[in-house]
Amino acid sequence: MTIILFIYGACLGSWLTAMADRYATGASPFYPASHCDTCQTPLAYWQLVPVLSYLLLRGRCHYCQQRIPPTTLVLEVGVGLLLTTLTPATVRPLLWLGLWGFAALCDARTQTFPGWIVWLAWPLTVWQLSWSAVILTTLLLLGIQFLWQRWPTPLIGDGDLELILAYIIYWGVTATAHWLLIASALALWRARDRGRMAFLPYLVGSAVGWWLIR
Ligand SMILES: [Zn+2]
Repeated sequence: MTIILFIYGACLGSWLTAMADRYATGASPFYPASHCDTCQTPLAYWQLVPVLSYLLLRGRCHYCQQRIPPTTLVLEVGVGLLLTTLTPATVRPLLWLGLWGFAALCDARTQTFPGWIVWLAWPLTVWQLSWSAVILTTLLLLGIQFLWQRWPTPLIGDGDLELILAYIIYWGVTATAHWLLIASALALWRARDRGRMAFLPYLVGSAVGWWLIR
């Protein structure tokens, strides 16, 4: 069962990566079929197998030899591992991680992500709260969105802050501290200049790491 779940997860990771690539370029999620982003050649079936194809192709396009980003392999293995933890009790956190994971993939490419992700993940975040807490935290979320639209040079993206708020609600303050520490350390390690950088990938990377450790 673990192996089957890993295979499904690797396929899901491959699909999420493709969807994020298409979000970044504004392409349709449905057309055209999978192709190399550089030479546009449609991929054969054996080049579409998650994990195995990357290893078989040694990380390069079969036709034009353009390097395939290694993050593709990391994502396929990562989502595969994540899905091996699927049980009826973990459907909610895995869906939550999956939605934010997709946001992070888009953020890594464009420093933005589709706004509907926050609202789709929100019911999963506040699932176990009392009604008054749901109203209070939703007002906080709306407050962030309202203020950030009016702040010309924010120090942190509203998406990052929304995920931090969601994480506190979902996992509590102590877990949030551990999570932020690792995410920030990863981001600092990778930071190359003083320009803007996408923070969601580090936040979600750290969240996935903590989930797998737990
Ligand atoms: Zn190519």
